[in-house]
Amino acid sequence: MTKPNMNYANLKDSYLFFRIAQKVKNYSALHPDKKILRLGIGDVSLPLCKSVITALNGAVEEQAEKSTFHGYMPECGAPFLRQTIADFYRKRGVNIADDEVFVSSGASDELGDILDLFDKENSAFVIEPAYPAYVDANVIAGRKIIHLASSMENGFTPDPDEEKKADIIYICSPNNPTGAVFTKEKLKKWVDFANRNGSVILFDAAYEAFIEEDNIPHSIFEIDGALTCAIEICSLSKTAGFTGTRLGYTVIPKALRRFNMSFNEMWVRNRTTKTNGVSFIIQKGGAAVFTDEGQKEIKENIAYYKENAKILMRVLDECGIEYTGGVNAPYIWLKCPKGLDGWAFFDLLLNEIQVVGTPGEGFGDCGEGFFRFSTFGSREDTLEAADRLKSLLREIL
Ligand code: PLP
Repeated sequence: MTKPNMNYANLKDSYLFFRIAQKVKNYSALHPDKKILRLGIGDVSLPLCKSVITALNGAVEEQAEKSTFHGYMPECGAPFLRQTIADFYRKRGVNIADDEVFVSSGASDELGDILDLFDKENSAFVIEPAYPAYVDANVIAGRKIIHLASSMENGFTPDPDEEKKADIIYICSPNNPTGAVFTKEKLKKWVDFANRNGSVILFDAAYEAFIEEDNIPHSIFEIDGALTCAIEICSLSKTAGFTGTRLGYTVIPKALRRFNMSFNEMWVRNRTTKTNGVSFIIQKGGAAVFTDEGQKEIKENIAYYKENAKILMRVLDECGIEYTGGVNAPYIWLKCPKGLDGWAFFDLLLNEIQVVGTPGEGFGDCGEGFFRFSTFGSREDTLEAADRLKSLLREIL
C-alpha cells in the first residue's frame, strides 16, 4: 500500500482563521444589522499602483503579437528582473550579483520550497510568536523543531542562546505578528552565531518596505558575515499589493556553502527541475515596482497603511495598553487588557464593538494573552474601529 507522508498527521489543526471565520459568521447570523469591522486580515486593501498596471497592460499587449510574444521564462527569473532587483540591493549598498537573485511566485511558496535544500535531519529553529508556515513546513518535512519563545521583555527580538543550537534558523524582521524589528547590532549577533555553528538563517524580509527608522536593516546582507550564512526571502505582496498577483524574490549568495555544496547552485538545479519560471506578464509588472515612479507610488500606499497604524496606536497610547509594532511594520501586537487571553479579548471585541482582530495564540504558545491588529484595512473602517475601541477600553479599564 502506498504510504503517504505521515508527517501530515503531526500538524496541529490550523484552527485559527477557521475559528475566527466561524465566530464572525455566527455573530453576523444573530445580528445581521451590525456592521463588523475587520482588522484581522493580513491582506492589502489598496489596488496595484499605476506604474504596475501600465507595465502589466504593456506586457499583455506584447503577448498578443508574434514579434513580441514570450513563451517559457527562464526558471530562475527573467534577466531583466533579476538585474533590476540586484540593482535595487546595490543602490542600498548591498553588493549582490544578478544571479544571486531568484524570482519566485511569492514568499509562502518559497518558504516551503526552499526546504528542499536541507537534509531531513537538520533541526529548524523558530523564534515565536511566528508566522505559522515556518513550523508547519518543517513538520511536513519531518524535522525537529526548536521553539524559542520571545517576550515583551526582550522586545520580541531575543538574542541567540549558545545552549539552543539549530541548523535552520528563521528570522522575520519586521515581524509578523509582533511588528518588532531586529537592529543591526541584534542581527549581527545572530549572523555571528550562525557562522560559528555552521547554521543557515532563513531571513524573511516580507515587510522590509515598512521600515522607517534608521539602524534597522532592510536586508540581512547589510550585516557583515551574512553572505556566508543566510538566505533572504522577500515578497512584493505587502510592499506593492501583489498578494493576488503573486511575485517574490529570494537571494542566495554564492558564498553560502556547507559540506562543499553551494546553495546557489543547488537552487538553480532545483528551480530548473521543479518550475518553469514565473509569468512574463507578472515579472514585467514586478519590475515596474523598482522604477522611481513605482517606488513613489508604493510608498504612498504604504504611507496610507502607516496612517491607519497611527490612528490605532493613538488609542492604545491613550488607554495605556502595551504594544509593539505599528512603526516599522503593518501589524500592532498588543497585550490584552485585564489579563484576558487572546480568544477572550477576541470575543469581547466581536460582541461589544464588532471589531475583528487575531488572537495571539495563533502564532505559538507564547502568543497567549496577546492580540494582533492589521493596519491593511480601509481608512474609514480603521477610524470607526479606533473610536469603538476607545469607548470600550475606557469602559472596562
Ligand atoms: N512571510 C510573512 C512573514 C508573511 O506574513 C507572509 C504573508 O502574510 C508571507 C511570508 C507570504 O507572503 P506571500 O504573499 O509573498 O506568499
